[in-house]
Amino acid sequence: MHRIYLDNNATTPILPAVFEAMRPYFCEEFGNASSIHSHGQQTRAAVENARDSVAALLGCRASEVVFTSGGTEADNLAIAGLVHAGDHVITSSVEHHAVLLACKHLEDAGVELTVLPVDGRCLVDPDDVRRALRLNTKLISVMMANNETGVLQPVEEIGKVAAQAGVSFHTDAVQAAGKVAIGVNRIGCHALSISGHKIHAPQGVGALYVRKGTKIRPLFYGGRHERSRRAGTENVPGIVGLGKAAQLAKAALDCGADQKEEPKMAALRDRLQQEILAQFEDAAVNGDGAPRVPNTTNIRFDHIDGEAMVIALDLNGLAVSTGAACSSGAIEPSHVLLAMGLRPDQARASIRFSLGKQTTEEDIDSALALVPQTVARLRELSPLYKRQAVSS
Ligand code: PLP
Repeated sequence: MHRIYLDNNATTPILPAVFEAMRPYFCEEFGNASSIHSHGQQTRAAVENARDSVAALLGCRASEVVFTSGGTEADNLAIAGLVHAGDHVITSSVEHHAVLLACKHLEDAGVELTVLPVDGRCLVDPDDVRRALRLNTKLISVMMANNETGVLQPVEEIGKVAAQAGVSFHTDAVQAAGKVAIGVNRIGCHALSISGHKIHAPQGVGALYVRKGTKIRPLFYGGRHERSRRAGTENVPGIVGLGKAAQLAKAALDCGADQKEEPKMAALRDRLQQEILAQFEDAAVNGDGAPRVPNTTNIRFDHIDGEAMVIALDLNGLAVSTGAACSSGAIEPSHVLLAMGLRPDQARASIRFSLGKQTTEEDIDSALALVPQTVARLRELSPLYKRQAVSS
């Protein structure tokens, strides 16, 4: 069976060029990047080269890039590393759990927390951020792109609010990197997280941008790796992979209009979305009307069970998701969709389609053939839908 993968917000395949860049660092170039002999010098050079590439993608200095084990660690390092007991933190209700739960954990340790609402389009209002400021506010953490809806937050405006108040600003850019241009100075952030496996590098590697002069407390204690901001021997193959993926992502974002991938991806996404909406009067796009990354659409098909839909589509070769990958198997509806005002049954009836570099027109054709028949079949089995059909 030809399998179609429309779950790139969960993870992306490693690109062949990324894999080739990493390959020597498993067996031949195995040195510890902290060793002073030539084995170590070779891997140190590879790590620093990757740091340059990540810095170029983010528009920062190489010395401001801290390699981590992924997006979760980068988020935790930014949050735990920038606040102390007695400080106040502002975040949003649609953050990834790596941010939300890190903040909630700090609340138990004496940090005050404000979790801002979003509107029906998944957007945080920068005026709400301003109004939430207190004398002891230390950090604002609002994501750049939402992993479930793809909605892009007004991070530049929030950065201005933070700058006016003299407060640190962290943004989780895990789902924005490689999909839209990132400039840390334009955003005005002090810290920004990215993750390798969302940009065609391996799982288990990521980076945190930390603005020069921003004091950050490490999560781990040990060696003086990463300028004492992240102890632990570097994951050299992973870092090399992240560097290569960052270089390819930057080249793709910077290339001429005729070669750009994002408009093509957005056109495929829009076709998928429009043709689905055209077939179901009661389907709707979660996050419609807000700016979004080009690869994501989150569609609500009322009166279906999202988990059942994901399983049924998978049996027919189409991989999609009900929301955050880490919530698969959990019964709770998505906290993001609930925060946008959806009822629990509507949140449970929502499916995320996330396209990737490898997605083709034929993949969309196949998805468009599978989705309507699956929705129809599930609705036939749904007592809820039947009841509604009879009463209307
Ligand atoms: N932040 C966002 C917005 C994400 O989508 C994810 C992963 O899904 C993470 C953080 C966590 O990244 P990682 O899987 O690299 O730990």
